[in-house]
Amino acid sequence: MSQEELLQLTNLLFPKALPTPQQLEEQYPPRNLPEGARVTRYAPSPTGHMHLGNLFSAFISERVAHTTGGVFFVRIEDTDKKREIEDGVSAILQDLASFGFQVDEGVTGVGEETGIYGPFHQRQREEIYHVYARELTLQGLAYPCFCTADELSALRERQEAQKLTPGYYGEFAACRNLTLDEIKAKLDAGLPYVLRLRSPGKEEGKVFFDDMIKGKIEMPENTQDVVLLKSDGIPTYHFAHVVDDHLMRTTHVVRGDEWIASAPIHLQLFKLLGFKPPKYAHIAPLMKEDNGGKRKLSKRKDLEAAVSYYFEQGYPAGSVKEYLLTLANSNFEEWRKVNGDAPQDSFAFNLKKMSSSGALVDLVKFNDVSKNVISRLSAEAVAKAVTDWAGEYDKDFHQKLTRDEEFTKGIFAIDRGGNKPRKDLACWRDAVDYTAYFFDAPTEYDLPENISAADAAAILERYVADYDHDVDKDGWFNGLKAICPDLGYSPDVKAYKKDPDAFKGHVGDVSTVVRLAITGRRNTPDLYAIMQLLGKDECVKRIQNAMAFFRQ
Ligand code: GLU
Repeated sequence: MSQEELLQLTNLLFPKALPTPQQLEEQYPPRNLPEGARVTRYAPSPTGHMHLGNLFSAFISERVAHTTGGVFFVRIEDTDKKREIEDGVSAILQDLASFGFQVDEGVTGVGEETGIYGPFHQRQREEIYHVYARELTLQGLAYPCFCTADELSALRERQEAQKLTPGYYGEFAACRNLTLDEIKAKLDAGLPYVLRLRSPGKEEGKVFFDDMIKGKIEMPENTQDVVLLKSDGIPTYHFAHVVDDHLMRTTHVVRGDEWIASAPIHLQLFKLLGFKPPKYAHIAPLMKEDNGGKRKLSKRKDLEAAVSYYFEQGYPAGSVKEYLLTLANSNFEEWRKVNGDAPQDSFAFNLKKMSSSGALVDLVKFNDVSKNVISRLSAEAVAKAVTDWAGEYDKDFHQKLTRDEEFTKGIFAIDRGGNKPRKDLACWRDAVDYTAYFFDAPTEYDLPENISAADAAAILERYVADYDHDVDKDGWFNGLKAICPDLGYSPDVKAYKKDPDAFKGHVGDVSTVVRLAITGRRNTPDLYAIMQLLGKDECVKRIQNAMAFFRQ
C-alpha cells in the first residue's frame, strides 16, 4: 500500500483521536532512580489465589528490585476475560500481603492504584495499546486479518499435512496483502477482524539475548504475523507486555521460562516500536520428586503447590520465604549459617546465582527450614502467631490458648532462646500436639519396659510426699536424686553404669516416671520449667492421678 492508502487504512481502523507516542513518552518518563536500581513487576492474571510457583517468581522480582534500591510494582493482566475469576485480584493481593511483600507501585488494593505509570490494569489501557497499534499500521507493520477460526484451522491442517511450519506467516498470511478496497468492503460488511503484525522476520534470521538466569540464548527470528489486538480491540499478551514494560519502565522482566519461546516475538516488537528491551530472567518451574524421577510441581496433584496449604498448616510466611531463598540462591544456606539471626532482607540476592533448571520442592527439607525459622522467634511472637492461626483454623485450640495468655506465652518460652533452642515446631498446627499436656492432664502413661507399674507408683508416692515446688532447677533435680537410694535407684548415672545389678535403675528413670506423670510423654522440653508453669497444685494432682493409674 502507498503511504496515502496506509493513512486511510489507519484512520479507518482507529477513527478516534489518540495521543501520540511522543505524548506517552512524556507522560511516562524514564524513572529517576540511582544507577543500578532495578524496576521489576509481578504481572498476574486475576485467576485467584497464588501457587508456589507464582509466589517464587513474585518473590524473586521483589528481591531484585529491593536489593538494588529499585521499584517493585504489580500489574494485573486481565486481557483474558475467560480466565478471570471473581475476586481474583483481591485473592492475589491478600496472598502478597500475607507474605509481607512491599508493593511500591501499581495495584496495591482492590480498585486502588499507586504511582504515575498506570493504569495498572491492562483492560484500562486500551487506548494506550491503540496508540502503538495505530503507529504500526501507519508504518505498514500491522494489518487487519479477517480469517475465521475455521479458515485458520484448515490452514494448520494443510501445513501439518505438508510438514510445514504451522502458523500465519509469509505466503500463508492470507490477509497480508489485501488491498485497501478489499479491506474496506470487509469492514463495511461488518466482518470481525484482529490486528496482526506484518513480521519482517526472515526464516534464516536469528535473535540473541542474554538471559539473566539461562545465559546466552540464540533463537530463530520471529516470522509469524502474530495477533497484536484481538477482535474486541484488547491486546494479546505479547503486545501488552512490550507496550506496558516499556511505558512502565521495567528494567528486568522476571517470568516463567514457558515464555522463552515467545521472546523472539517480544524482542522483534521492542525493536519495531523503537523501545529498548528489558533484561529477561526466565525462571524454570518448581519441580517435585515422583517415583524416583522429577516432574513439575502440579497445581492439581500436589497440595503443597497452593499457597493456601501453607496458611492452613500455619507455616509462617517467613519460613516459606526462607525456603524459597534456599531454592533460589544456592549460597543462601551458607549465608544463613554465618548470619543466624539476620533478617532475610539483608541477604544479597543475586539473579545470576539462580539455577537454570527447576528447583526441587522437598517438604522434609522445608520443614527443617521452618523449624529453624520458628526456633529463632520470640515466645511472644510464637504465642501470637499460634493464637491467630488457631482463631482461623482450630476454634477449640484457640479457646485454650486464650484462656490465660501469660500461661500460653509461658509454654512457648520453655527452652526458647539460648544457643541450642529446641526445634519442635515446623508449623502452628504442630503446636496442637506440642502443647496438649499443658492444657489437659494426661490419662495414659506408657512406661518403658525396665520400669514396672509398682515401681512407678512407689517412685511417685515418695516424690510427692517430699515435693518442694519453690526451688530452683538445681534444687528440683536434687529432689529427684534425694529419693533414689530409698527406692533402690542410683542418684548417679555413672555409679549405676559401673554396677547396674546393684540398682533398679538410676535418677534418669526416676525423672522419666515423673515426666510421664506430669505430661504423659517420655520426651518433653525442660521438665522443671513445665512443672513451674503448671504450678504446684496441678503437679501434685497429676502425680496422684498417675499413682492411682499405676496401682490399678
Ligand atoms: N500474565 C502473565 C502470566 O501470568 C505474566 C507473565 C509475565 O510476567 O510477563 O503468565
